[in-house]
Amino acid sequence: MKIVCPKNKDHKRFSVTAHVTERWLVDEEGAVVEIVPADSEVTHRPDADDLFECVECDCDAVSTWDNQ
Ligand SMILES: [Zn+2]
Repeated sequence: MKIVCPKNKDHKRFSVTAHVTERWLVDEEGAVVEIVPADSEVTHRPDADDLFECVECDCDAVSTWDNQ
């Protein structure tokens, strides 16, 4: 995967949404008390089909798969 800022190719940091499930400790009303890090799991790592934003200039970045 290659992610490029369309405004400046020297911008190398991007934000993107990953999907993560968490195990929570909750109280008797179901309110979260603590997140159990050892039981958290990434269900979707960002890939080229996700929307990336350049954190240096806030524009939408262009992502491509390596084999394209
Ligand atoms: Zn940028």
